Amino acid sequence: MIYSELTVEEIKNLNKDHVVVLFPLGAIEQHGFHLPVGTDAFIAENIAKRVEKKAKDKIVLLPTLPYGVSGGYAGSLKVNDKTFKQIVLEIGQSVLDNGFRKIFLLNGHGGNQSYLEDITATLNVEYPYTATIPLYLSGKRGIQALKKVNYKYWIRHADEIETSLMLAMNEKLVSMDKIVDETGLLKTKDYKPLDEGTLKLFLPWEYESKSGVYGEPSKASKEIGEFLWEEAAEEILDIINQFEKITQKIEKFISQRENENHKTLENEEVSKADGSQLTNQK
Ligand SMILES: [Zn+2]
Repeated sequence: MIYSELTVEEIKNLNKDHVVVLFPLGAIEQHGFHLPVGTDAFIAENIAKRVEKKAKDKIVLLPTLPYGVSGGYAGSLKVNDKTFKQIVLEIGQSVLDNGFRKIFLLNGHGGNQSYLEDITATLNVEYPYTATIPLYLSGKRGIQALKKVNYKYWIRHADEIETSLMLAMNEKLVSMDKIVDETGLLKTKDYKPLDEGTLKLFLPWEYESKSGVYGEPSKASKEIGEFLWEEAAEEILDIINQFEKITQKIEKFISQRENENHKTLENEEVSKADGSQLTNQK
């Protein structure tokens, strides 16, 4: 289901315990000389649309938030961390205030990751349940899929993975003649670009890349892209199923705990009553 296509009545009548609200989030930022600035938003939205098509009864797809937290490259349209967190938090609260019980934040942009983790933790204190992932193709299935196309890293920037996905989505948006490969970025034993190492700096991207590329987009192909779109959608669907299983286990755990507390209270009352009978007999 597409949220913005539903009527209020239809939204009211949805089985909120059954559905999962899917919220794609991207960025409008520099992606080398060969990819459009909307790459991250396109990718998050397209995966989300595929997921919704595969599970129409279960998934309620929200409109994509295209703006994210970005560095200072020309052409980026960005919001600061406070604004980003506030928007996502308030949309999340609106969704949950409408009676929905599960939200999945589908991230297409590395720079949003730490904020989405914060938002997830904040929402779960008051309104269980929200879940997120660092990025698409970051789970077990995703990593396997990346290995199959001979890619051994976390998804980088304007690299062969993003370029392949964009080629398969709409090759007119990719300027193959402007491709630059750039991999010689800052590295030490414990520091890796994109903060993959233990040493974290969370640097704006322009300190680590001349062209904006981190990776080898010259290795991209439409075939790789087609394979990865499908894998990414299946991966998200699988992760959402795991999210649902966790919520069911939590519900079971809470009801068991409540039953046990109830029994303990009842026992305490019985023993109090017994105690008072004994006192009366004396
Ligand atoms: Zn990107």
